[in-house]
Amino acid sequence: MVLKLPPLPFAKNALEPYMSARTVEIHYERHHRAYIDTTKSLIQGTPLQMHSLEDIILATAKDSSKTQIFNAAAQAWNHAFFWRSIMPRGGGKPVGEVLQAIDKCFGGYDRFRQEFKSACLRQFGSGWVWLAADGDMLEVLGTPNAVNPLSQGLITLLACDVWEHAYYLDFQDRRAEFVDTFIDHLVNWDYVKMQWRAAAGQFV
Ligand code: FE
Repeated sequence: MVLKLPPLPFAKNALEPYMSARTVEIHYERHHRAYIDTTKSLIQGTPLQMHSLEDIILATAKDSSKTQIFNAAAQAWNHAFFWRSIMPRGGGKPVGEVLQAIDKCFGGYDRFRQEFKSACLRQFGSGWVWLAADGDMLEVLGTPNAVNPLSQGLITLLACDVWEHAYYLDFQDRRAEFVDTFIDHLVNWDYVKMQWRAAAGQFV
């Protein structure tokens, strides 16, 4: 298994004015690439070298002697998920089955939005906020550093990177504005729907 930086699903300037080309350039070409490169160098010559990123994450998540590998591999996976979680002209209220699931699990889109934003603002320091599925129930999950739903036995549907490197060039310390922009203009609900359908196949 050769780990490679996956291609971005859009042009680097395609998210402007909501996420600048400079932010995408540095976040993708430097941060995301570095996590891939670090993972490769840490697993080289070990049994993990033959494994997928997902398997490496699952094999190291509960092993405190492998925290360095977990952090790099999970961040590589998290960033790939993050880029697929956003799109040009995205965001706003979803429709169809995703909206139905949100209504059922959160009591409406506005309450989901509030919960997701609160989790993003509450996350102290570096971390992520996710929409995840536990069986057929959706939940908002905040995680520190590299921790992700995959390592918690949950299905991942949506990722918001709240590390400062995700927004500092565009918003400086104004995380709330970044989160509003992410929710209202960037979320790729079609991707969430694909993940939700794949997950539904596992519990129907
Ligand atoms: Fe990041």
